[in-house]
Amino acid sequence: MVTTRFAPSPTGHLHIGGLRTALYSYLHARAKGGKFLLRIEDTDIERNSKEALDGILEAFKWVGLEYDKPMLFQSQRTGIYQQYAQKLLDSKHAYYCYLTKEELADMRLQNKGSNHANCSRKYRDFTGEIPKDITPCVRIKAPLEGVIDFDDGVKGKISFQASELDDFVILRSDGTPTYNFVVAIDDALSGITDIIRGDDHISNTPKQLLVYKALGFDIPRFYHIPMICNEQGKKLSKRDGALSVLEYRDNGVLPEALLNFLFKLGYGHGDKEIFSLQEMIECFDPHRINSNPSGCNFSKLYWLNAEYIKAMDNERLMQILNVEILDSMSYEQKNILLDELKTRVNELVSMRHAIKQIIHAPLPYEGEDIEKSQQACYDISLYRKLFVEENKAVLEQALSQFVDKLNSITLDINNIKAIIQEYANTLTIKPSVFMQALRLGLLGQKGGIDLGACLCILDKDESIKRIQTLIEFAKRN
Ligand code: GLU
Repeated sequence: MVTTRFAPSPTGHLHIGGLRTALYSYLHARAKGGKFLLRIEDTDIERNSKEALDGILEAFKWVGLEYDKPMLFQSQRTGIYQQYAQKLLDSKHAYYCYLTKEELADMRLQNKGSNHANCSRKYRDFTGEIPKDITPCVRIKAPLEGVIDFDDGVKGKISFQASELDDFVILRSDGTPTYNFVVAIDDALSGITDIIRGDDHISNTPKQLLVYKALGFDIPRFYHIPMICNEQGKKLSKRDGALSVLEYRDNGVLPEALLNFLFKLGYGHGDKEIFSLQEMIECFDPHRINSNPSGCNFSKLYWLNAEYIKAMDNERLMQILNVEILDSMSYEQKNILLDELKTRVNELVSMRHAIKQIIHAPLPYEGEDIEKSQQACYDISLYRKLFVEENKAVLEQALSQFVDKLNSITLDINNIKAIIQEYANTLTIKPSVFMQALRLGLLGQKGGIDLGACLCILDKDESIKRIQTLIEFAKRN
């Protein structure tokens, strides 16, 4: 049975690198019918925050990566770590160390240039008199020679000289356990068989291996995955478009698109681009994670997002969009609107914005900040271009006759396009000029959704009202 885990420290937002690690751990567990656990590494009291923890859990909920219970909090397990430190003391794999901070600093200074790993070993096999009034810390006995190595599932064999390791502290003098000690204990006690994590943790692995060996625990398989970089191979930053997981949500990215993007970023699987979570599970093998850093191009994320939006069922899309104004529309109108917009956006924020701009009548004047406002304003340069002196009277008349036409027909998405076209063809001005004027009246702008769809979405009364507003505007200007 495979058991994996994701072990975030609640000191900040969950970033995409973390989410990718979690995703790979999740996929591996689910592919093998195993367990995926979440462990909160909250031993750094000063840097932890409740807000960060809530954010991490909310991000997990949003992306839908379900973890198995129980979720562990390291801060609640100090007693367990202390018991295991005692075991190591009893079995002579660890010892009390009475070095003061000052002594340690002095020793390190004196040993500068030589192997400093030995500096801390004064009390390792100490037989002299133990200093009074000093509360000791507990150090583990690291091997004095040889090699500590492990087969990394992504990077291959990784070796460390024992001389690179010191007898590191496992329990501080105040009784609190240290990082590498608790990670190894928790992984072992939770039965973690496969550890997938960032390669910034490689240097921690030999220390954790020492704990495993000293306590006789089974050693898990390790997969250290390279960091996500920008396209230039440098550390990702905000400037590259890197955001926290929840910021992607707030920017209108769908969770399935983000997971798909992260899956492909660092996992070779041919040219296929779109993967459902189930498909990811079916093909995942942690040995196939790329061992080189992955260059991140966020335009790919938005391309994927557009694909997911396009393919999404309208019911679900409506739920996610959560735009109140849609409630006032008929089922058919909503579907026409969403079908129109789905192919035109690559994230949901602009989709919400576009919905509002279609549903709210355009303001019959030139606006300043059209981008931000819910209501579009007339594109005045378009108006001037269309309503030139020689066309003005014909256009006004054509629009008003089109209102009569609208009054006489039943709006139907299947034939409205043809009706507009036929009508435009009967005019003495170019059909395209009429169409653009109609668009100006309905939406205030050039471009946007199909005119026939727009008429159906708005319905007759609202469409007529908008066209009449344009006619009146033309009379005044
Ligand atoms: N808490 C560590 C981190 O947030 C992860 C430790 C691990 O995966 O072993 O980077």
